[in-house]
Amino acid sequence: MLVVGALPRISPGRFATLLADAGSPAAGEALACWQAVAREGVDPLFALAVFHHESKLGTVGVVAQFDLRNPGATRTSRTGAGEPVEVPSRGQFVRYPNWTEGFRDLARRLVDPGYVYRQRGADTVEAIIPLWAPVSDGNAPGSYIRAVLDFMQRHAEEPVPGVPLEIALVPRGAANRPGYPLRVAWVTVHETANENPGADARAHQRFVHSGGGPEGVSFHFVVDDQRIVQLLPTTENGWHAGDGAQGPGNRTSVALELCVNRDGDWERTQEHGARLVVALCRAFGLTPEQVVPHQHWSGKQCPRRLLAQGFEGFRARVRQRLSAPAGEVIEIGPFKRRLGHGFLSLWRRLENNDPTLPLRILGWPLSDEFGYGAATYQVFERAVLKYAPNEPEPWRVHVAPLDEGAQVARWARERGLTA
Ligand SMILES: [Zn+2]
Repeated sequence: MLVVGALPRISPGRFATLLADAGSPAAGEALACWQAVAREGVDPLFALAVFHHESKLGTVGVVAQFDLRNPGATRTSRTGAGEPVEVPSRGQFVRYPNWTEGFRDLARRLVDPGYVYRQRGADTVEAIIPLWAPVSDGNAPGSYIRAVLDFMQRHAEEPVPGVPLEIALVPRGAANRPGYPLRVAWVTVHETANENPGADARAHQRFVHSGGGPEGVSFHFVVDDQRIVQLLPTTENGWHAGDGAQGPGNRTSVALELCVNRDGDWERTQEHGARLVVALCRAFGLTPEQVVPHQHWSGKQCPRRLLAQGFEGFRARVRQRLSAPAGEVIEIGPFKRRLGHGFLSLWRRLENNDPTLPLRILGWPLSDEFGYGAATYQVFERAVLKYAPNEPEPWRVHVAPLDEGAQVARWARERGLTA
């Protein structure tokens, strides 16, 4: 199972809920931990599975006893964060300043071009674990692999909600898989410009797998009205932007192609593309302004249909979905409300202390989540919860009617968003 260069298979909300439910000491940093791993291009569900196998999410073993804040139970640091600690009869481990740095280091070692995983092309659970926990160190990689895969299968969510995602990577060593390290700073949107019947995602998968034509093109994802196919890991560059071997389009952006085959449903393809872009923005902490047409890099008239319709329309679709994150519908009192993105885990954590506590502190939820400015809010009787992923403190509880909360609650009331 591909876990380096793969989209997150767990949402920040579910990640937070699993840590909170286990009584993990990392629960308070859940969102920052998820982000630290996803930003490196590593699946946070894999990091969580390793954390679970090593220390039951920080609750047992040397990680708990010696307060290491070290989800991977690593003995050295690749990021430079943390300090060595000598554990009697177990040798050296790293103690990190916080859990977030521990998670960042877990992910960084997997993508670091100067380290063993990348050098040996180990990007799947099956290839990583024997290097992570070698037999020579007294480990049993076979059972470790099974435990990680089992944990991941139990807790996996769809990386792109509602759209089947297939992974069919171009083989290493192919001319159109150059393998230069990519740190995603942009999303580049293309169209295939092939309107022939049957020119769908699978057809373009075959095209890229057989060399990508005379120019040797490649891109990370191809999208049609049925599915998304991933062709390159998000941790490696492709040749798609037409701005040269060192161009920022080719070297700092992740690329998707929208199929325009006339026997496909163009509206559905755009919707699938927007959902993929939202997943990429969440994973890499990008704003809709960092989603650009191919034209941005080379002037080429691509993506032709979206440019003709106005690229801003596609961006607006992304912006709307980004600010209205998916959640779970739970029944709270007389209301059926959608609590997500960690709002639910906050509610549950309060409930765990005292079942009446969330109601006493927050009151009934009066709205679902909604986007306002760059943040997501939810209005309760006595408070307004705010989630702003790009702020240093993404979580805020505003006690209405004292501050920003009152303003947001009024805005929501005027638009009929609250009960
Ligand atoms: Zn293009």
